[in-house]
Order: sequence, then structure tokens, then C-alpha cells
Amino acid sequence: MGTAGARFMVAKQVAASAGLYIEEGDTRLALDPGPGAVVAYAARRVDLTTLDAIVVSHRHLDHAGDVNVMVEAMTDGGFAHRGLLFCPSDALDEDPVVLKYLRRFPREIVRLAPQTTYSVNGLSFTTSALHVHQVETYGFRFGDRLGWITDTAYYDGIAEQHRADVMLIHTILLHCMPHLPHLCVDDAERIIREARPKIAFLTHYGMAVWRANPDEIAAALSQRTGVDVRAARDGMTIEV
Ligand SMILES: [Zn+2]
Repeated sequence: MGTAGARFMVAKQVAASAGLYIEEGDTRLALDPGPGAVVAYAARRVDLTTLDAIVVSHRHLDHAGDVNVMVEAMTDGGFAHRGLLFCPSDALDEDPVVLKYLRRFPREIVRLAPQTTYSVNGLSFTTSALHVHQVETYGFRFGDRLGWITDTAYYDGIAEQHRADVMLIHTILLHCMPHLPHLCVDDAERIIREARPKIAFLTHYGMAVWRANPDEIAAALSQRTGVDVRAARDGMTIEV
């Protein structure tokens, strides 16, 4: 639904900040609905009243900006008591990003825990260890098929915990910055070398990555690692 990461890309909507959408059989998940997500879903004619769950990796705006309107949409304005919301505890507690009045709309709000497997209508996913980020953040693995590395600094075990045939890597930084807890292109390379997925997609670009051309960065990574690395783009569909 969108490939923008961090403040400048999101504020200017250089790319969409609408997160990911997963469909398997009758199961539908919206992941990280950032600002504009509801617009992106409407543009692609996804009926949000059929969503089974909304999953928020962490409480930052580029991941949760539209979580409230998405909960309302999933629950048909709160009239249908249905669907699940998964989010870290700090999205609900102090300075919450999930508004209190709509917390009774979903069937359940699940507080994510590290390295735990959840099942939604037959589709299972497992959280990573706690990411290294400013707020409580998790990555996700959908069996051996899909690994989704959300915002974090590099840490030991990150490749193993997200290893899957297809891996999505939030590559915000062009160059590593030790004071910023985000993955840079070199981190992405290290993860790809360790995990060796069948295919890796870079996404969630910061402005410097965007200006450097994600397609060229991905091509260079493919060359260096021997793994098929590609740059995600808004609206891209992947069959896993
Ligand atoms: Zn982010």
C-alpha cells in the first residue's frame, strides 16, 4: 500500500505511507496503516469492513497515523463488533495512539509480546524479539514464507528471526548513523547475506534512499549478494 518511511517522505507524501496489506484465502490483514492508509485502501477498492485484523508494529506516526480511522472502517463505524487490533502496549497506555472511545469496537485488542505466535482466521504470524527502536517495536514472520523487518537498528539475530522465502526490509537510511536506530543499506546487505531469502524487497525508504534511487540500490545489492533484491513501489503486489 505504500513505501514511504520516516518524517520527510511521509510529510511530503513523496511515496504513500499506507503500510502493507495481506490476503490469504478469506483472511485479510492491514499492517502499519500510516497517514493516508484509508485513502490508499479506498483507491484500491479494498472493502475495509472485511478486514480480519489490523497490526501495528509500533506507535510512530508513519506506522499508526490512520489506525483509528482503520478501526472504525473495519468495524463498520463501530456498529459491527468484529476484527482484531494487534499493537504494542505503549500504543495503548501513556500518550496512546489508539483512541479510547473506539477500543470497544474491535472484537479484541491484543497487546503484542516478543517471540509469540498469533493466529487470525487461520493465518499465523510470529513476532520477533523486541526491536532496537525508540518505542516498543516488533518485526513479524508469517511462517517460512514472509519475513517483515520493521523499524529497528541492526541487532544480532535479526536475520534469523525474520528468515523467510520473501523478506521485506525497512531500509530508511542510505548511510548508517549510529545515533539513529534504523537500518541502513549496509545493514540490509548484512541481513540479506545472513538470511539468504529467495527474494528480498527494500521498502519504507527515507528521503536519502529515495533520492539515491531504490531500484539502483537494490540492483547493486543483488550484484553483491547473489540474492534477488528488489525495490518495492507503491501498489506492488507480491504472490508469496
Ligand atoms: Zn517508520
